[in-house]
Amino acid sequence: MNAQIERAVEHFRALLEEQEARARRLEADESASGGEHTGKTVIGVIGGDGIGPVIMAQARRVLEYLLADEIAAGTAELRAIDGLTIENRLSCGEAVPAGVLEEIRACDVLLKGPTTTPKGGNLESANVTLRRALDLYANVRPVRISAEGVDWTFFRENTEGEYTLGSRGIELPGLAMDFKVITDAGTRRIARAAFEYARKNGKKRVAIVTKANIMKKTDGKFSDVCHAVARDYPEMEVEDWYIDIMTANLVNPALRARFEVFILPNLYGDIITDEAAQLQGGVGTAGSANLGSRYAMFEAIHGSAPRLIEEGLGDYANPESILRAAQMLLNHIGRAGQAERLQKALEICCETERKCAVTGDQSGATCQAFGDYVLETLQGLEG
Ligand code: NAD
Repeated sequence: MNAQIERAVEHFRALLEEQEARARRLEADESASGGEHTGKTVIGVIGGDGIGPVIMAQARRVLEYLLADEIAAGTAELRAIDGLTIENRLSCGEAVPAGVLEEIRACDVLLKGPTTTPKGGNLESANVTLRRALDLYANVRPVRISAEGVDWTFFRENTEGEYTLGSRGIELPGLAMDFKVITDAGTRRIARAAFEYARKNGKKRVAIVTKANIMKKTDGKFSDVCHAVARDYPEMEVEDWYIDIMTANLVNPALRARFEVFILPNLYGDIITDEAAQLQGGVGTAGSANLGSRYAMFEAIHGSAPRLIEEGLGDYANPESILRAAQMLLNHIGRAGQAERLQKALEICCETERKCAVTGDQSGATCQAFGDYVLETLQGLEG
């Protein structure tokens, strides 16, 4: 046993040294600027696995329509990236095969279908790998329940917490330990992104959500650093909440409309945003942005829905999630007019008119029929 403990201590020392170096790199990067822009926006379109290609086909049609003039003028390009499939990733033995990562890095932004991560085995999640490789530190997830005046935006830290060393914990006979990592610089940048968003969008309330009463070191630091950043935004009402009671708050109709912007460490953000999406109408209705200082990746918040495929219901997958992500992408690349048109069309198709609804089975419309409806609605908005 002593030898095993010695090995574990050595493993821990290596992790500490590595993470300390990463924290210093992050501090140094704080003053660096984002990447240069060439004038042409290259949008990488990644189909993904399971229902990914089904919903992505509709998102592509909508983007082709909304960006038609720019694609024709050569100022925007939709570039298909085909290699991020579970088959190719397994056969290369890489979460994101090197050649695919190179293609991805040659794009400015990405619209990505969900990718499967096998249970067990050694293949890491393509998403976690991409977030790390492209340093996509902010996971932004908007959720709206118009009838109740709920308009939430979650800023989930995307590269630290339990995920940084997720597959590198320690196991001894009868004992397992994982690690959670929080850095000052890593927290500062997600807090800054959230407060800037709040200021630019006329929001007044920011909730910092942790479990700092239990995870005293890591969540304690996260909360302290967020409060330090908050001092630059004196107009904001900043509150501390624990994740357990916030989970209850979101299902409390008497309270939930008061929340606006949330800042959370990685794992709590991952969990609570699925709860929030379910309140909006299900994970099939919610999109998200993964933002870094150079790259940005937009996707649905759900996975590849293997059960839908196994049951032969893939064609009934809901593309609303990826269309919401496409709308966020359009805003991000400075096409606010097109983003607003898509938002209006989705409001009509999903909330007010609802001429055809996707339910995830034969009782509802197919993904393609819903795509037709959105396109017709967009055309109607022009006239
Ligand atoms: P899931 O999100 O794929 O499915 C959860 C439930 O929601 C299922 O009942 C599914 O049928 C339903 N659903 C999801 N999207 C839908 C849509 N657009 N329309 C209708 N119904 C929809 O979650 P899971 O089953 O836990 O994960 C499946 C795979 O996806 C796993 O390999 C997981 O690792 C991966 N995953 C990928 C991402 C990503 O790429 N961003 C995110 C989450 C999970």
